[in-house]
Amino acid sequence: MIYLDYQATTPLAPEAREAMLHWLGGPDGSGFANPHSPHRPGRAAAAAVEVAREQVAALLPPDGCVIFTGSATEALNLALSGSGAKRLAVSAIEHAAVLDTAKALQPDVAVLPVDREGLVQASPPLPDGVELVAVMQVNNEIGTVQPVAELAQAAHQAGALFLCDAVQGAGKLTYPEGADMIALSAHKLHGPKGIGALWVRDGLTLSPQIHGGGQEHGLRSGTLSPALCAGFGVAARISAQRQEEDAAHVGMLWQAARAILSRWMLNGSAQARWHGNLNLRLDGLDVARLMSDLRDVAFSAGSACASGSGRPSHVLTALGLTAAEAKSSIRLGFGRYTTLKDVEDACTRIEAAAAAQGV
Ligand code: PLP
Repeated sequence: MIYLDYQATTPLAPEAREAMLHWLGGPDGSGFANPHSPHRPGRAAAAAVEVAREQVAALLPPDGCVIFTGSATEALNLALSGSGAKRLAVSAIEHAAVLDTAKALQPDVAVLPVDREGLVQASPPLPDGVELVAVMQVNNEIGTVQPVAELAQAAHQAGALFLCDAVQGAGKLTYPEGADMIALSAHKLHGPKGIGALWVRDGLTLSPQIHGGGQEHGLRSGTLSPALCAGFGVAARISAQRQEEDAAHVGMLWQAARAILSRWMLNGSAQARWHGNLNLRLDGLDVARLMSDLRDVAFSAGSACASGSGRPSHVLTALGLTAAEAKSSIRLGFGRYTTLKDVEDACTRIEAAAAAQGV
């Protein structure tokens, strides 16, 4: 199996896996304590959680705190609902975790359009009285990198908070400057699934969305998993250490894939992008048939969340693509553990299978 779906999830880093093992608890009775218990094993587990918090915080601005959550989806729900903002503006290409949550809070949420490359205007017209603006750092379907620092400034000038979904950018790019809240997910940076985080700027007060034992500054009750925290922390540390190396590696893979799939049209921006994402289209391509011809290559027909729904991707249609163009698009995602041979083999076979369709 060649895995080319790094936007859906990334392989667990061996270092993160190793860090988690002790905190899964062993038959000798160690490593399983509740990190919220005051006894010695509990305090040891709490210390591991705090080390992880520092490691994740190192990816983020210095003037705020990290709240662990069960996922980035939960972090984004906490940010949007917990801020109490009623008038929201979100980009047209946000992940459903932002779009659907915003629409649930405000049915007529203002939607900021994107251009043909998937970029939100750096200083967009914002609705009067807007209280919160949400624009993601890197899009999960097309890899476009937004001008988040300028957008945060525009939000602040309008008197609004700025929320950034940095799920696809964290550990790969510098943190989104100027944001008031930033959401992260461990499993997109080679950490485990089941844990995310919300970074909250100092001085900003949120209301809790999950009530109970008062963990995470009372914002997110529930017993933390030291194993998941430790895995997230180490994955964050390794991502920071390897940031340049990883970026150079995906840049090389991107060039190789583009050279083989040279007649395919790129969806998204060629410049303002994360090169571990390659979203391409070929008019007339039957994507379902391509996927069934290449069952041992894991790639996506769009975002993992939207694929299977039969609806054209809201991201691709926001770029101005027709439904037919959107449905003839594929997303290849690669990263740290993808080899050049993986990319060359997969792309050569994708090209041959498309040619066999007569497109
Ligand atoms: N935001 C973006 C951009 C994503 O790609 C994803 C996952 O696909 C999420 C949010 C949700 O992350 P999680 O799986 O941690 O809920």
